Amino acid sequence: MDAIKHRPLKLLLLGGTTEATLLAQRLAEFRDVAATLSLAGRTRSPAPSPIPVRTGGFGGADGLADYLVRDAVDVVIDATHPFAAQISNNAIAACSSANVPLLAVERPAWRRVTDDIWTEHATVEDAIAALPDRPANVFSALGRSSISRLGAKPQHRYIIRVVDPIEPPPELAHAVIISARGPFVAEDDIALFRAHEIAYVLAKNSGGGAAYAKIEAARRLQLPVHMVQRAAIGERFVVPSAEEAMAWIVRHHLPRAERGV
Ligand code: NAP
Repeated sequence: MDAIKHRPLKLLLLGGTTEATLLAQRLAEFRDVAATLSLAGRTRSPAPSPIPVRTGGFGGADGLADYLVRDAVDVVIDATHPFAAQISNNAIAACSSANVPLLAVERPAWRRVTDDIWTEHATVEDAIAALPDRPANVFSALGRSSISRLGAKPQHRYIIRVVDPIEPPPELAHAVIISARGPFVAEDDIALFRAHEIAYVLAKNSGGGAAYAKIEAARRLQLPVHMVQRAAIGERFVVPSAEEAMAWIVRHHLPRAERGV
């Protein structure tokens, strides 16, 4: 008798994070999974992927819903960055209208610990506005999309760390751009802050280990951090790590043979 043939699980992995890279590596090991990694296309040389990659927006929640139906996607894993609220809310709406299960991987936010000097802000604009008027050396880890907003306080000398090199806008002609990809190490960030005589740190509460070095460095040097909080994302099922997402996929979506039972 012929064995029952299973169609591979069609999985769409919304990525752009370390968690998505890890998940892509694990998913590639399962022969019963046909996973596609989706990237926005913001970075010039994304981390290599062992699964097929599609790049660029879907055209809002409706475009994503159409994609899910057209491609007969069985499950969506949203492993985008905690600050990528638009795509995450689109995924909630699209999965609901296309009736596709959605799991989100969201690393827990960093918590303030003793000796941290944090001021928390709802938006990037608020964090920048909270810098003093007196000129200072400021380290910005707010990301590429926030660089133009630093122009609201052009008197400061910004040291800006981004993944891909970028020209600073004309009003920030004295800014120093550091092109680097994490994970970062606290000792290196302490040396960097000392070398540039940093007085303030601008950061997003991204969570996770890869970008925590600057937070530890600021604490150890007793530098104030203006920390942008995460925007609220709609209701969805969330796990805190790639490992737990993988366990959920295996438990709920893989045939018994793949699970080894
Ligand atoms: P966003 O504001 O939430 O999304 C803006 C638009 O970009 C979305 O509506 C969507 O376009 C498109 N998009 C975003 N992520 C996508 C993906 N994985 N695949 C296909 N299209 C995507 O996102 P963002 O903050 O600009 O972040 C863009 C990407 O960079 C994300 O994938 C995120 O994981 C990564 N990232 C973001 C940050 C951050 O601080 N925001 C940090 C590190 C990495 P359509 O509406 O046309 O579908």
